Amino acid sequence: MSGPVQIQDADATPEAPAVSTEPILEVTPSRAAMVDGQSVRRALPRKGRRTVGAWCFADHIGPSVVNGGPGLGIGPHPHIGLQTVTWLLAGEVLHRDSLGSEQLIRPGELNLMTAGNGVAHSEESPASASGELHGIQLWVAQPERTRHGEAAFEHHESLPQVELPGALVTVLVGEFADVASPARRDTDHVGLDVALRPGAASLPLRPDYEYAIVVLEGAVTVDSEVVTPGHLAYLGEHRASLDLGADEPTRLMLLGGVPFESPILMWWNFVGRTREEIDAATDSWEREDGRFPSFPSTLARIPAEPTPWPK
Ligand code: MN
Repeated sequence: MSGPVQIQDADATPEAPAVSTEPILEVTPSRAAMVDGQSVRRALPRKGRRTVGAWCFADHIGPSVVNGGPGLGIGPHPHIGLQTVTWLLAGEVLHRDSLGSEQLIRPGELNLMTAGNGVAHSEESPASASGELHGIQLWVAQPERTRHGEAAFEHHESLPQVELPGALVTVLVGEFADVASPARRDTDHVGLDVALRPGAASLPLRPDYEYAIVVLEGAVTVDSEVVTPGHLAYLGEHRASLDLGADEPTRLMLLGGVPFESPILMWWNFVGRTREEIDAATDSWEREDGRFPSFPSTLARIPAEPTPWPK
C-alpha cells in the first residue's frame, strides 16, 4: 500500500515543517495517486506541507474491489528513514519484509515497520482475499536519533481504546486521554482512529501538538466546516480540545505531534535530509549491494525511480 512520493507531492529539496502556531482550519484536497494500478487519495505530503508532527505521508486506499478481484500486489521495494503504519477498515494485506517477517494484516490490527538505515518489504492481497480493501498507509519520519539505526517490525493485534460520549477512539500510536499504545514511537506524536456516532463529540488535545484529520468514511463537522474523505484538514497548534460533529457513522484518523525537528527530503520510498543520502539509497537498491536484504517473494522487485535532480 505504500505509494512512491513523486514530484507532484513534494519538491526535490528539503522543506522545513510548515507549522501554524495557532488553531486554524486549512482543508486541502488530496491528490489522486496511482499505487499498483489503484487510485489512492494522497492527503500528505503535499507542496507546502510535508509533515504534521512526524507524520509525513498518508495514502487512503479504497473502499474498493482491488484490481477487480486478483488483488493488491506491490513487489519488494526499499524504505529508509521512516516507519510505515498500515491500518485497515476492510480486507486483508499480507506483509513480507527483509527482516523475515510474514504477517497478515486485518482490520483493527496495527502493522508498524521501522526502516532506519534500510528495509525492503512487499504488500499483497492474500490468495484467499475477497478483493475488498479499505485502509490507510501512513509514514512517520524518523528523527536523527534513530534514522540511521536498525530496521524493525511490530504487529499489534489489539490496541487500547477510549470510549467518549459520541466517539470510540483507538490509540494506534502515542497517548490519548491517559491511555498509551504499546507501539514503538521515536518522536512525540499520536495516531488515533476516531469512530464517531451521529451527534457531537469532544476530544481532549495537547496544545503543544499540531494536528490534522483525514476522514476515511462519512463526514465530520469541525470548526463549522464539513470535511469528507479526500481531504487533509490541518488544525494547527494550541488546541486543548476538539469539538466534532457527525450526521452519520464516521471514521477518521486524527494525526498529531510536536512539530518535526528538522526539514526533510522525500523522494520515492525514501525519507532523508540530503540528495546525497537519497542517491546513495537509490544506488544500493539498484546494485543490490546488501543494504536492503532480499527476501522470498513471488512478486517482481520494483525498480528504483530515478532521482529528479542532476547527479
Ligand atoms: Mn512500502
